[in-house]
Amino acid sequence: ILQLYGPLNLFGTSYRSLQKNFIDMEKMLDLFQEPVEIQDQPEAKPLVMTGGEVVFENVSFGYNPMYPNLKSVSFKIPQGKKLALVGPSGGGKSTILRLLFRFYDPTQGRILIDGQDIRTVSQSSLRRKIGIVPQDTALFNESIGYNIGYGKIGQDRTQIFDPTRSASTLHRRRISSGSSDNNTNLGGAGIGEGARRPSLSGKSAKSAARGRKRRNSVNASLASHVRGTEGDEDADVEGEDADYDDDEDWEDDGRIQAAAEAARIHEIITRFPEAYATRVGERGMRLSGGEKQRVAIARTILKNPPILLLDEATSALDTQTEREIQNSIEAISKDRTTLMIAHRLSTIVDADEILVIQKGEIAEQGSHEQLMQAGGIYAAMWMQQLREDRTLVGSSHSSQKE
Ligand code: ATP
Repeated sequence: ILQLYGPLNLFGTSYRSLQKNFIDMEKMLDLFQEPVEIQDQPEAKPLVMTGGEVVFENVSFGYNPMYPNLKSVSFKIPQGKKLALVGPSGGGKSTILRLLFRFYDPTQGRILIDGQDIRTVSQSSLRRKIGIVPQDTALFNESIGYNIGYGKIGQDRTQIFDPTRSASTLHRRRISSGSSDNNTNLGGAGIGEGARRPSLSGKSAKSAARGRKRRNSVNASLASHVRGTEGDEDADVEGEDADYDDDEDWEDDGRIQAAAEAARIHEIITRFPEAYATRVGERGMRLSGGEKQRVAIARTILKNPPILLLDEATSALDTQTEREIQNSIEAISKDRTTLMIAHRLSTIVDADEILVIQKGEIAEQGSHEQLMQAGGIYAAMWMQQLREDRTLVGSSHSSQKE
């Protein structure tokens, strides 16, 4: 029995880690659920960005048209300003983000970016201008440098690959085939946010050798996820995948390190065994939730989009990590039009405007000071969170005494 216990235990551990990755992936896909297919209009033009102003004009929407999940929602985010969405679970916050990314079209009303109805522009041009930092970021079983750079570096040869789009493709395949992909969940990394490796146009001999070595079944599997999807960037991707002559020097790319510094993750990476060349998921190399979110922030810094969608992590973070993430969110949202779902109210005190979304409607609207003064839902949420924080501090003190 003892002899059996070892392998069984090992199996249990692997199974649990595999299970956790599926849960991670589900969480990530949660915000950007499988959408109804949205098509470009035949005369769709590229989105022309002049500043990044976002306007919701009497937007109503229901996943089931009989039951509206958003009811005549109107707001404006001026260029470079930050709007925070707060409110009870199921109120419609994520739905607002999904509509702006055009996973669905409103049943009534319009969404405008710099005066253009997003239904009239091509989806690829829209999504190139929008960066997303999801709550939970899935990573490739690749080097940390690669994980930061994949969405952007190599753009010289290909267009930016849209992470959420491939996630939805992956999701669709997973559902339709009913099977999981072994390669997507190696060693605790998990993928799902992207489906190809981009390439650098300039190669070095060193990276070429390393690149060839690394060209493994993960890539083939990732490539297969992309095929069969429509859209111009996907067509590009397929061409790229056909010849794997891409090599990378993720670890030595100064842009990646600069982005990691801005996202406050560089220090942590330098402590990894091989710094930027450390493979995520190898020998138990796992990133914490907070670290993964900072990887997503670094990626988005590289993508440099004028519009940013942020879904703050709900998971409990220690104070230091929270501060680090807060700093990196500040770094990334500065001068970008930002729409952020906030769970910790302390992170949005400085937002230009806060909307309390409840039952698909804007229940309250204003700055932190205005809403506190109004003494309504927001003020009550704030007091509630203060009480919870005090309880937490209290319990950690008492456990320290013990
Ligand atoms: P949370 O804070 O829990 O993430 P939320 O405010 O972001 O909540 P949404 O995810 O926008 O809320 O959901 C709004 C409503 O729409 C909820 O009642 C939810 O159950 C429903 N809903 C979300 N996605 C779908 C879907 N794909 N099909 C049908 N109903 C959906």
